[in-house]
Amino acid sequence: MHHLSLDQLTSLSTPCYCYDMQLLRLTLKAINQEIRQFPFKVHYAVKANGNAVILKEIAEHGLGADLVSGGELKAALEAGFKPQAIAFSGVGKTDREIEAGIESDIFSFNVESVPELEVINEIALRMGKNAGVVLRVNPDIDAHTHRYITTGTAHDKFGISLEMLPQVVRMAREMRGINMRGLHFHIGSQITTMRPFEMLCDKINQLQDDFEQQGIMFDIINVGGGLGIDYDNPDENPVPDFGSYFNVFKQGLKLRAGQEVHFELGRSIAAQCGSLIARVVFVKENRDKKFVILDAGMNDLLRPALYQANHRVMNLTSSAAAVDTYDVVGPVCESSDVFARDLQLPITSRGDIVAIRSAGAYGESMASTYNMRPLPSSHFFD
Ligand SMILES: *Cc1c(COP(=O)(O)O)cnc(C)c1O
Repeated sequence: MHHLSLDQLTSLSTPCYCYDMQLLRLTLKAINQEIRQFPFKVHYAVKANGNAVILKEIAEHGLGADLVSGGELKAALEAGFKPQAIAFSGVGKTDREIEAGIESDIFSFNVESVPELEVINEIALRMGKNAGVVLRVNPDIDAHTHRYITTGTAHDKFGISLEMLPQVVRMAREMRGINMRGLHFHIGSQITTMRPFEMLCDKINQLQDDFEQQGIMFDIINVGGGLGIDYDNPDENPVPDFGSYFNVFKQGLKLRAGQEVHFELGRSIAAQCGSLIARVVFVKENRDKKFVILDAGMNDLLRPALYQANHRVMNLTSSAAAVDTYDVVGPVCESSDVFARDLQLPITSRGDIVAIRSAGAYGESMASTYNMRPLPSSHFFD
């Protein structure tokens, strides 16, 4: 976004999302470069950003898609993702969504429970089809991320527990409507050290050994997503360290012959290419605090209010040399509608244009019309 001209910026109607398509392409190329020559496939987690232009670009780079709803299935197919490269996740798939997935011949359902497995089998048999299934395992690994985005501990709602797994695998293999393809893991999001992924590899190796002793082999090991990004330094680290990330799995996983590893990356693909652009509506002072009030709020970008997330906030148009300390807030009637507290910015005035960085993932896709505010628009720059 740093190569937007001032003219382009000031003519934008705000609030809006701006996407740097060059950076998105650079990111996708970096991924493809790392997985070349390995039996690795990357599925993009559509919930991170389902904008049609973004989806199309990602599909054109040959990635698959990981979905969590029938709406995302429709969007992914429209954007050009091949059904054979689509996986459908989520703890609460409805019958309609399961039918739509089977109808479209998607690669797999990432199944999270026995009742779900039974319903998919029933529906597939009724449709005279066979549903690809990957069982989501809860590996009981704590990724030490925010408690709202950790998903792989025994206390979370996700996946099948390790104790139940052997029995569920046997069950799935016997169901005639189910094509049991492998195991799935997803331990959390915004994971910024490699240690949790190394622990995941160890757990997978141990499970594979156990199943092998019972004569059971899997075609697919799906290790989920969760690679974090640098929210503090978006310009210094625009592309995540995919080299280190994929190396963990290249070195850590003991693969069997013919096995494929699937990845489901969302944030690490889409976050850095997007910024939320806003205008300063007012600057106001209360006793000992100054507030910058933007025309963008928590309905446009929910992450700070929902999980105390930090995004870099930059004043793009102030030419002041002096700085002051501000709380940067939105206009929504909630005390949590705050983007930054005690932030140093160049002296800021009404009309200045502000960028909230690293907002390409879980930004536009989480936007709502709360307070009857219109959804933010989106713009794409090459
Ligand atoms: C959200 C999600 C992902 C993507 O997570 P990121 O942290 O954005 O990479 C992958 N797999 C599943 C099952 C998910 O729910």
